[in-house]
Amino acid sequence: MYYLGLDFGTSGARAIIIDDAEQLIWSTQTTYHTADSPHSWRDALFELIAAIPAPLRAGLTRIAIDGTSGTVLLTDDSFEPITPVLMYNHPLAGQPAAKLTLLTKNTANARYLMHQVDYLNAQLTSVAGISDYHNALKSGYDVRALKWQAELCTPEFARLLPTIVAPGTPIAKLQRRIARHYNLNANCTVHTGTTDSIAAFIAAGATHIGMAVTSLGSTLVLKLLSQHYVASPKHGVYSHKFGNLWLVGGASNTGGAVLRQFFTDDELITYSALIDPSQPALYDYYPLPSPGERFPVCDPNYQPRLTPRPDDNIVFLHELLAGMARIEQQGYAKLVELGADDVTQVLTAGGGSKNPQWQAIRARFLNIPVNSALCSDAAFGSALMAKRQEL
Ligand code: ADP
Repeated sequence: MYYLGLDFGTSGARAIIIDDAEQLIWSTQTTYHTADSPHSWRDALFELIAAIPAPLRAGLTRIAIDGTSGTVLLTDDSFEPITPVLMYNHPLAGQPAAKLTLLTKNTANARYLMHQVDYLNAQLTSVAGISDYHNALKSGYDVRALKWQAELCTPEFARLLPTIVAPGTPIAKLQRRIARHYNLNANCTVHTGTTDSIAAFIAAGATHIGMAVTSLGSTLVLKLLSQHYVASPKHGVYSHKFGNLWLVGGASNTGGAVLRQFFTDDELITYSALIDPSQPALYDYYPLPSPGERFPVCDPNYQPRLTPRPDDNIVFLHELLAGMARIEQQGYAKLVELGADDVTQVLTAGGGSKNPQWQAIRARFLNIPVNSALCSDAAFGSALMAKRQEL
């Protein structure tokens, strides 16, 4: 049997199929014509499905999708968008009631509030009005009380809100005409989705309390599996429900974007290879692309510390990497201070995860095992979620 995971990211979509042994069997990707157009997402969805090799289509039993969290729109009762999409980076992204107020202004026929994933699931199943508690968090779903926040429960809003279930829950079988058109297994079920960053967490292979995933992308993002719910709005720290556990997350403004201010990716590889990770850092750098930090320190005027600047590029890069490793260590310490369980192992994803010298520097700061992610593709995480059907 095969399981399809689909990742809808910021500029394109990716598909991965795994088998019963959770091995990656096939993958492909495409880009959107227009990133904020639901019809472009739908086109990408069916382009990816059309690319699945024939022998895999017949054995496909489950599908799950992840999307950018906070991306929402309103549709009518035939799932046609009737508002522009509010993207994940919209200024109101963190304010659920304000978002709904904006969306519902001047709209008649509004029937469903949909996250990106819900819109795609509705295309596949012809069922709407159901979503998952990962995507719904930023829309104002209270993941501890398992209900929508009171401010959304007005008569005007409540009728638009989906019923919320666990990510990975079966919604329905594929629409018959879709299964027939693409020669897909007629019994293939579509499951509620998750967000792209949680799918990437699952893909990394973290499964137990104390396991963490550090994403070394443009910014530094930490996620830690904990028994305890943790939230600190001023630090941007919040917790997703993850089965019986909590997935606690925090994001620093440090990260690869600072490295890109000084080095090309090729230079990063060349200079990193010449770093001796066992040597201690000399300075107390706090690399930031511009002033201001939220986590682990909350200070909108926090100044980057990048001096003294050594003449030698290799020494400079070593100091930058060590500075970020210190912030990572302080970040996990902050999560624990806020009430999360101790970190026992860190898996690494993102562009910086290819750097073995950095990994060694980080292991020294963190003083626990630091390993590479099992897989860095969010689509793999969605495929795993579809197969395991539990979160
Ligand atoms: P995002 O999706 O957040 O933009 P990626 O996960 O694609 O980021 O990672 C890109 C970042 O990885 C860049 O900012 C770059 O500086 C960093 N990066 C690329 N190669 C290396 C390397 N060898 N060592 C450290 N960082 C690297």
